[in-house]
Amino acid sequence: MAAAPHMPPRPDGIVTRFAPSPTGCLHIGHAYSALFAHRKASESGGRFILRLEDIDATRCRPEYAQGITEDLRWLGLTWEEPVRKQSEHMDDYRAALGRLEAAGLLYPCFCSRRDIQEEIARAPAAPHGPEGALYPGLCRGLSASERNDRIAAGNTYALRLDMTAALSRLAAPLFWEDIAQGRQAAHPEILGDVVLARKDTPASYHLCVTIDDHLQGVTCVTRGEDLFHASHLHRLLQHLLRLNVPVWHHHPLLLDDAGRRFAKRNHSVTLQHMREQGKTPEDIRAGMAHFAAVRLP
Ligand code: GLU
Repeated sequence: MAAAPHMPPRPDGIVTRFAPSPTGCLHIGHAYSALFAHRKASESGGRFILRLEDIDATRCRPEYAQGITEDLRWLGLTWEEPVRKQSEHMDDYRAALGRLEAAGLLYPCFCSRRDIQEEIARAPAAPHGPEGALYPGLCRGLSASERNDRIAAGNTYALRLDMTAALSRLAAPLFWEDIAQGRQAAHPEILGDVVLARKDTPASYHLCVTIDDHLQGVTCVTRGEDLFHASHLHRLLQHLLRLNVPVWHHHPLLLDDAGRRFAKRNHSVTLQHMREQGKTPEDIRAGMAHFAAVRLP
């Protein structure tokens, strides 16, 4: 909780969250993002939530989750308990998928990564979005019987959002508000037919983050500018699933002196390493101020 223990959160205070995936150690860029969210909540007398986005069973590890909470406590942050772990809430995501499926907005996609790459290579003019080439739609046009046969044959599949169908349900254009960049017309089509349930787990980042922000009462979604484009899609999912609509505040990414993003795999920039080196939370804040300063134009 952002407010001091003797001060209950204000009902008009904003609710923010920091939502790391426990796939590695936190680095100085994460610290910036967590402090950014925490400060926004505390300045308004609101609440700060920590959430662990751990649906990827192959990459997430309990020891990373443990390390994340240790790092954040060391930085001086406090948050509400219990911490929501996405892996414990798969029923919520399944229920949302069920609603989208019943509305005719999902289709099974049997493609492997390779199938998709080969199809894209065949059509060099294939549309691209902020994350690269869009899904070329190989499975969109399969008939019901083809789908059933493939499922019956045990072929694994992801569930994709039929973006054209979803957009056709809109009675009016959607908009969303970013505190830094102002009102945005929603353009979820830049991401194409996104995966909402992966082959290996019946959920995806986009689905879970949208459901969780609603269920946890988040009123201001803070995260790095690298995820700005994702908010176009999240706004659409909020509309389709009748979820609350927060405001967003995408913050600039902290870059190192060479202009590169900090990476989890670079141990020297992790909070754990810095702690072991005897650095203090004040040193980390000073370091962030340095990197924030050098990236200014
Ligand atoms: N789990 C996401 C990440 O670590 C967080 C995305 C978000 O804040 O929406 O990048």
